Amino acid sequence: MKRDFAVIGLGRFGGSICRELSMEGMEVLAIDIDEDKVNEFKNIASHAVIADSTDEATLKDLGIKNIDHVIVAIGDNIQASILTTVVLTDFNIKKITVKAQNDYHEKILNKIGADQVVHPERDMGKRIAHNIISNNILDYLELSDDHSIVEVKVGAKMLGKSLIDLDIRANYGCNVVAIKQGKDINVSPSAEDKLKEDDILIVIGADKDISRFEKHLVVDE
Ligand code: ATP
Repeated sequence: MKRDFAVIGLGRFGGSICRELSMEGMEVLAIDIDEDKVNEFKNIASHAVIADSTDEATLKDLGIKNIDHVIVAIGDNIQASILTTVVLTDFNIKKITVKAQNDYHEKILNKIGADQVVHPERDMGKRIAHNIISNNILDYLELSDDHSIVEVKVGAKMLGKSLIDLDIRANYGCNVVAIKQGKDINVSPSAEDKLKEDDILIVIGADKDISRFEKHLVVDE
């Protein structure tokens, strides 16, 4: 189903979202206060307009009320980001995603009713840090302040062993929820099957448990 999007703030982050959505054939209204930024997106987005998103009347005139999902990607100007979010929540937009600049900003955005708050620099920093710890850690996704999901390649310490042999739940308190084998994902992995090279485990757990699991089983000596 085709949905309408608006991206407010066309910096690197907002600009990249706007480009991708447009490339996927979505209808995108691109908004920025800066004329040069808007000109950059004239031929990319369905509509690109110069506007101050903190101004309620302007957003109303742009028909923002009819848009399914608005992404607020104003970073540095935290005040403008908060004010824009307040105006959007008053319009009862179906979904509002806002980029947070820091933890304090994130807290306020959650309080004032943003549906989704993203913190790309912090999240990407975490992912890269885990990948630096071990090349076997392919991805790291935060579920809450203290729980995450990791995607790990079966390394030397796990190779040829079954989930029963490793007993990850008893030893580390984490759960293997799926095993990826090439393009297939097995969401109810057998406890007895031996793990093979190139198998990828999807593991869920508390951060402290995942950290022990990574140190003991994932990092190759
Ligand atoms: P990024 O970190 O994504 O690269 P940036 O550093 O280029 O962003 P920011 O200051 O984070 O820029 O703001 C992103 C965009 O939001 C800028 O292009 C800026 O002109 C725009 N912007 C800031 N305030 C408003 C506003 N009140 N209304 C509309 N757009 C705004």
